[in-house]
Amino acid sequence: MAAHILDGKALSTEIRARLAERVAALREKGIVPRIEAIVAAQDPASLAYVKMKRTWAEKAGMESGSFEVHGDTHQDQIMEQIWKLNRDPSVHGVLIQHPLPSHIDEDACLNALDPDKDVDGITSASLGRLTAGLKGFRCATPMGIMTLLDHYGIDCQGKHAVVIGRSVILGKPAALMLLEKNATVTIAHSRTRNLPDLVAMADIVVAAVGKPEFVQGSWIKHGSVVVDAGYNKVEGRNHDVGDCQYEECAAVASWITPVPGGVGPMTVASLLENTVRAAESALSS
Ligand code: NAP
Repeated sequence: MAAHILDGKALSTEIRARLAERVAALREKGIVPRIEAIVAAQDPASLAYVKMKRTWAEKAGMESGSFEVHGDTHQDQIMEQIWKLNRDPSVHGVLIQHPLPSHIDEDACLNALDPDKDVDGITSASLGRLTAGLKGFRCATPMGIMTLLDHYGIDCQGKHAVVIGRSVILGKPAALMLLEKNATVTIAHSRTRNLPDLVAMADIVVAAVGKPEFVQGSWIKHGSVVVDAGYNKVEGRNHDVGDCQYEECAAVASWITPVPGGVGPMTVASLLENTVRAAESALSS
């Protein structure tokens, strides 16, 4: 049996088309959704991600901008910029792209951000809202994963989900969102013992490890759902490689996300969706 594809590329295209309609409706009422990024100027990967996110935002009819953090940018200057964006009613979403240069206190930046503009859902306030089951912006990558599962009719209720990875931006919020959907969740990490045995018990596996092709097909239970959030640059490979051994896992799973074209595009769609929602709530407030 070959697994069905959880096609994040196709679904994100549909979502962005629907968002473009919502943006057009907002524009008619005089509101242009706007997202601003704060990004390290000397990090080519971060600049490329932000450029891609801004391009998709603009293609959906939104406006975007960015503030580049250089080696000599002082913490106070970034804090000033965040406070300015917090106060500016024309700005609906702010993305603080990780990593900022090492001399910057990134946690202080995140915690200065108004949670109602935290469209990436990664501030302590947003994560606290998720933990408490309160309304708020959900973290973009796990939100994309949940949207993908929902779109393909994968019911999490009562299923055993094993999330491999416990980062604040991915593993932990993914586990909480699966729990919200009534899955029974196990979180694995670098000190977990007998990981293959644990994964073998999972109905849903979310790999968020950051190690290319780490999860082997022999670990996967027949018919389980494999969500691969990883993207890793590997020398000699002409595209990003996920955290799962794709061919092996696809041979036993019932559903699987490809890399690229699975979770990655869903992250961008979620970020844009949150920005449009922020603009819509500005209209109703
Ligand atoms: P991270 O902060 O480095 O976290 C990696 C997690 O994996 C940690 O919790 C770590 O455990 C765990 N881990 C490491 N080695 C392990 C092992 N041998 N067994 C079990 N667990 C192990 O990474 P991240 O930011 O969550 O990202 C994870 C992956 O997702 C990366 O490939 C990244 O590029 C990708 N990503 C994708 C998107 C997207 O939009 N698609 C967004 C963000 C990240 P400890 O906590 O014990 O160290």
